[in-house]
Amino acid sequence: MRDGTRVVRAGLPQVAQGEPFLPGPTFAGPYHLTGDPSTSAYTYGRYHNPTWTHFEQALSELEGGPAVVFASGMAAVTAVLGTTLHPGDALVMPSDGYYTARMLAEGYFASRGIEVRMAPTAGKAQSEVIDGARLLWLETPSNPGLDVCDLAELVAAAHQSGALVAVDNTTTTFLGQQPLALGADFCVSSDTKVLTGHSDLLLGHVATRQPSWAEHLHAFRTQQGSIAGPMEVWLAHRSLATLDVRLERQCNNALEIAQFLLSQPEVRLVRYPGLPQDPAHAIASRQMKRYGPIVSFVLSGQAQAERFLGACRLILQATSFGGIHTTAERRARWGGDAIPEGFIRLSAGCEDMQDLLEDLAQAFAMISIR
Ligand code: PLP
Repeated sequence: MRDGTRVVRAGLPQVAQGEPFLPGPTFAGPYHLTGDPSTSAYTYGRYHNPTWTHFEQALSELEGGPAVVFASGMAAVTAVLGTTLHPGDALVMPSDGYYTARMLAEGYFASRGIEVRMAPTAGKAQSEVIDGARLLWLETPSNPGLDVCDLAELVAAAHQSGALVAVDNTTTTFLGQQPLALGADFCVSSDTKVLTGHSDLLLGHVATRQPSWAEHLHAFRTQQGSIAGPMEVWLAHRSLATLDVRLERQCNNALEIAQFLLSQPEVRLVRYPGLPQDPAHAIASRQMKRYGPIVSFVLSGQAQAERFLGACRLILQATSFGGIHTTAERRARWGGDAIPEGFIRLSAGCEDMQDLLEDLAQAFAMISIR
């Protein structure tokens, strides 16, 4: 089946007379349970929940390996680091990857005896520091700079030196690229973003190539308690059905916006892996089916970027990305990323492309008048 069909049907229970297509959320702490707990599929709400079961089944089908759902993307990141690393191990992380994941590694994990090695996503720097590492963490395209690394090549190098590989696939989802099929051991996602796409929940998941790793992740979740609410998981499963439609529209809008930005004299740099002239395009076009909704661009500085964002009428100012509403922010307002003050991360939504281009055009006209 094709992607559009797979996301609509993924994880749905067997057809049964009088039953809904997707059962509603199950709200339960304890379940009825007499005698031997192993005789029941469901015992206690921190261990398992039928709503998680349906969604995890859907993710497993789509990712190509067993999946475990978590309360947020960061809970999923923590679970992979927490189940794979022991004191004395080395972790390789992208120096331009998601800020909070880097903070977690350099703070909590480094203070507990993990050696953290940082290398940028672009070029070959990551493969040069793999030697002796336990885990190579990749994020491609990286957030927010949108550099891309060669997954198959890095996975081969890591496995040859005995390292596991985890890929944060938040920016494009399994419809954009399939890290497990390219050999990665873990695929991590913040489902808060593109996968659920409605900006109404936080969620994350990890998919893995090995059932034994999924068992470790499941045990970690149960013991640590980073479980997702049934309502969020049900909403996520409902939203998953439209992922193909949303992402197609968002990627088309992103490419049009990137091309429009290239024609604007105020714009100093545009990054979008789908642009043929982008430095990441050669690798991206080999390993990605879709290039995602995020476009990054640079204006002259903080003042111009703030003026531009303030002049947008349709494009909303917000952090996060991947939703149906087009959003943008001056990323340097948070600190922590090596980016210019005028760097803007824009996430293309599902609005009519013409309206988005008109909004951008009037915002550029406003800032060039002053
Ligand atoms: N990974 C990436 C690439 C992200 O951009 C984010 C959030 O922005 C996360 C992980 C963390 O996700 P969450 O906010 O759902 O915890």
